[in-house]
Amino acid sequence: MPEKLIHEIIPVGLLQCNCSILGDRETGEAIVVDPGEDVDRILGILHRDKLKVRAIVCTHTHIDHVGGLAALHRATGAPVLIHDADLGLYRSLDMQAEWLGVPTPETVQIRDFMKEGDMLHWGDFAARVLHTPGHTPGSICLVVEESAAPGHKLHPVAPILIAGDTLFQGSIGRTDLPGGSYPQIIRSIHEKLLVLPDDVVFFPGHGDSSTIGSEREHNPFLR
Ligand SMILES: [Zn+2]
Ligand SMILES: [Zn+2]
Repeated sequence: MPEKLIHEIIPVGLLQCNCSILGDRETGEAIVVDPGEDVDRILGILHRDKLKVRAIVCTHTHIDHVGGLAALHRATGAPVLIHDADLGLYRSLDMQAEWLGVPTPETVQIRDFMKEGDMLHWGDFAARVLHTPGHTPGSICLVVEESAAPGHKLHPVAPILIAGDTLFQGSIGRTDLPGGSYPQIIRSIHEKLLVLPDDVVFFPGHGDSSTIGSEREHNPFLR
């Protein structure tokens, strides 16, 4: 990936959700993925790198990934995107807050949805949406690629993967919460993620990055 791509990863909130800021240094356009909390820090980086947010994207609507949506939306005016299969979970944020014993975060009216195969564009980059149900019904992953221009043929250069809570280094997402399914997450990982090249670096929703090749070889849940 050329250095033109800005990729800042900020662990936010109590559960240290990895929020990603993906920007194009030349055009100044960006997307923000999983602003779980700490919106002031996120805004500080956007300001420092002179980035304008085109879209705010959630890999799924667990509380640790969506807590900062309303504040970031208000500050940037950017649309908020989720997969519609996770809308019910978003509407039950008060219940999720109760499980964790934390206050219910402010919510935002979600009007924009993404689905399998959609392309999200910012500057000369694009992210392809993979619908990977299992951790939640509307979990998605993003394959970030270089893009000639919106609407033109893509020229993938060492793509990276934003994996949400579907795949972790040496582990997979939990499936014991409402809407979770172990058979589904296993199928999603095999059919959508392990088909990517070995050298694809992925960034999970929590913890350290890894590569698809390393997980294929070492992840005990994928044997
Ligand atoms: Zn989650
Ligand atoms: Zn999480």
